[in-house]
Amino acid sequence: MTRLYYTDAYRTDFTAHVVSCEPADGGHAVVLDQTAFYPTSGGQPFDTGTLNGIAVRDVLDRDDGTVVHVLAKALTPGEAVEGWVDWGRRFDHMQQHTGQHILSAAFDRLHGARTESFHLGAEHATIDLSREVSPAEIAAAEDDANRIVWEDRPVHVRFASAEEAAAMPLRKEPARQGPLRIIEVEDFDLSACGGTHVARTGGIGIIGVSGWEKFRAGTRVEFRCGRRALGRFRYWRDALAASQRLLSVAPHEMADAIDRLQGESKAAGRTIRRLQEQLASHEAKALVARGTPLGGGVVIVEALDGWDAAGLKALASAASATPGVAVALFSAARPALVVVARASDVSLDAGAVLKALVSAFGGRGGGKPDLAQGGGLEAPMEALLAEARGLIGGNIS
Ligand SMILES: [Zn+2]
Repeated sequence: MTRLYYTDAYRTDFTAHVVSCEPADGGHAVVLDQTAFYPTSGGQPFDTGTLNGIAVRDVLDRDDGTVVHVLAKALTPGEAVEGWVDWGRRFDHMQQHTGQHILSAAFDRLHGARTESFHLGAEHATIDLSREVSPAEIAAAEDDANRIVWEDRPVHVRFASAEEAAAMPLRKEPARQGPLRIIEVEDFDLSACGGTHVARTGGIGIIGVSGWEKFRAGTRVEFRCGRRALGRFRYWRDALAASQRLLSVAPHEMADAIDRLQGESKAAGRTIRRLQEQLASHEAKALVARGTPLGGGVVIVEALDGWDAAGLKALASAASATPGVAVALFSAARPALVVVARASDVSLDAGAVLKALVSAFGGRGGGKPDLAQGGGLEAPMEALLAEARGLIGGNIS
């Protein structure tokens, strides 16, 4: 079985004959006498495309050395097939994979950081380095890798016996036995690899490190090559431009601007709370003055406009500082907020009143016998006020 991509990664059309076709998970497993389809292996995902117009759903590398194409429909053994490989996906993988060889070699040569593993995902690729690297070391490796890209060096593919390969200065000990496929980025990197690569490094376009994190004893480096790097550039450009329109500062000043805004917002919040408390003590006097006398005390049940939860609480606390007061305050907005409180000389369980309101009108909340608060009450204001008057009037003593 011939793997056409071994010698020509740029070939997307080919003809072949069906060797076998068997039922398999997800469809039919088709083996051909030759194929341009790359099977999932070595950290690189499979190629997509068609065989006789039938979509190739998966491509597997079997232990016996054959490549299995998984199709929705069966093909007949002996049948001639026209194969077509999706070039957009293939070329993207060629850019990421060759970029990985160069970036790994740069980390190795400059910093002695070996690549332990490589993963090529749908969004980005990662390499796991054997030791932790600093941001400056990452930048130096990135610079060196892009120098190799821009020098447009040839990428040679050759085959070597195990003995020949043993004499070569390969970057990594080969995992396979027997003859090896050697990928050489001219005068820079020599690796045993079965993947698809560009013919000259210029085809990678650019190698951009898009993030990194500590991983095991080393660093996981996330990178994007070629079109993916351009896609990331646009993503960051657009996100940054949207923030810039709001903040009106240059990108490098953005973090400081956000820090300043957060500080101002906290200070404003503190000012508002202080003013609310001052206002609450004034308003509370008016509330007590217009409350309904009951027994020796005063019952206040009102809906108020323009107070948030903290404000209502401050108001109820201030009102219930007056002996004999029991108070239930609602926000005018729906769903309503509510605070129930009572003076220390009043026998009323504010928590129980709140619980009864929540069970009647929904929402949630809780508290203690002297003060309880809640929100999310869904009912017309008149119904809320009437229920609260009944609950307080019926339970106060
Ligand atoms: Zn490779």
